[in-house]
Amino acid sequence: MTRRNWSENVAYRSPVLHEPASVEQLCEVLAGASAAKALGTRHCFHDIADQPDGAQVSVAGLPGEVVVDHEAMTASVPAGWSYGRVADALEAEGVALHNLGSLPHISVAGATATATHGSGDTNPILSAAVVGMELVDASGTLRRVDAGDPVLGALAVGLGAFGIITRLTLAVEPSYTVWQDMYLAPAWDALLGDLDAVMGSAYSVNLHAGFSEPTLRLIWRKCRVDAGTARPDTLAGAPLLDPATLPPSVDRTEVGPVGPWSRRLAHFRLDGVPSAGGDELQSEYFVARRHAVDAIEAMRRIGDRVDPHLRGTEIRTVAADDLWISPTGGEDVLSIGLTWKKHPAEVEALLAPIEDALAPFDVRVHPGKLFAMGAETFRERVARYDDFVDAVHAWDPDGVFANPYLRRIGVW
Ligand SMILES: Cc1cc2nc3c(=O)[nH]c(=O)nc-3n(C[C@H](O)[C@H](O)[C@H](O)COP(=O)(O)OP(=O)(O)OC[C@H]3O[C@@H](n4cnc5c(N)ncnc54)[C@H](O)[C@@H]3O)c2cc1C
Repeated sequence: MTRRNWSENVAYRSPVLHEPASVEQLCEVLAGASAAKALGTRHCFHDIADQPDGAQVSVAGLPGEVVVDHEAMTASVPAGWSYGRVADALEAEGVALHNLGSLPHISVAGATATATHGSGDTNPILSAAVVGMELVDASGTLRRVDAGDPVLGALAVGLGAFGIITRLTLAVEPSYTVWQDMYLAPAWDALLGDLDAVMGSAYSVNLHAGFSEPTLRLIWRKCRVDAGTARPDTLAGAPLLDPATLPPSVDRTEVGPVGPWSRRLAHFRLDGVPSAGGDELQSEYFVARRHAVDAIEAMRRIGDRVDPHLRGTEIRTVAADDLWISPTGGEDVLSIGLTWKKHPAEVEALLAPIEDALAPFDVRVHPGKLFAMGAETFRERVARYDDFVDAVHAWDPDGVFANPYLRRIGVW
């Protein structure tokens, strides 16, 4: 049976999927392989997890538990577990992650490999919490990389290029509680005139909109109780929504009541079918915060072209990190996430014009979502691309984990 990604726009060409039941079996698979690739929960929108020349390998079946070191405030977690499952296990131990992406269904290894993020002025991408990992390299050897090893800056957003990760060690903090609120239909001018204040008004702020619409749709805030966040009646002129008026939803995390971070920081519930249920494509672009308003205005100028194919945009902020090829490296950023209708040809034709419109702001791309950018531009825009390529080649001299995606962005 053909294996496909979650949104089913990609049929993987890899002829076989290995699902080892132990790390020893995984080592054996890789020791004999000339080409292989880790497959996570398949939520990327292109062929990053494919291996046409050999096997895909899933670590979802490896045994293992979440182990918290309360003194070091770290947690060692199974790489193939979903963030939602890990979050529940951490909450049960009284500790928390700094953030979650919108979707709790994604695997920890796949999400961190592609710089997955949530929102918040002080919240870096999820990979920034990676302080160690265990992985099986191209020779079939289990290796451990600990905090302090500089190559962790390459491996933490590693695009699956270094090996098959079996466990990740993540920085944790004491557990906290969160409530969510929403403000309806802010006017673009009011919002953009006060963008920093709005984005800084809570722990995680997410703007939902269509670019050609007269107002934005929603401000969605996630507020940490211990931060003492204010809940004004209006935000950028938009009224606070009474959660009782929201239609019941089986997929959205609860808006209104205070709850644990693990059940509030993602937009979607682990037991629901998220987003458009796979009937969608996604792209995402990052610009430095100092360009935020200009970049949003640039997108609004092409809104009439973009919106017919768009379900909606989600605008978020992400704090800087120092990971080598991170799209959020070096400077705090604004992210512009595009959830497309499943119009592959039209979307593909729009990617280059969008990247041209955002080029004056040195736009970077989400490596797990659709983009048009070629290898040279990708290389220019991230901090330590050449070092990253050198590290990949040192770890995998024969290119066992090379695939068409990594060739397109010039890693191979
Ligand atoms: C509905 C939806 C909502 C999303 N929301 C967000 C969001 O809020 N923020 C955001 O930033 N992104 C978001 N994404 C993108 C998503 O987080 C990324 O696509 C992420 O990579 C998904 O992880 P995965 O396990 O499904 O990866 P896969 O697609 O399976 O694999 C991605 C990469 O990770 C590598 N990989 C997977 N497992 C391992 C392993 N064990 N060892 C080494 N490498 C591995 C693969 O080889 C591949 O290179 C969303 C995607 C969807 C479908």
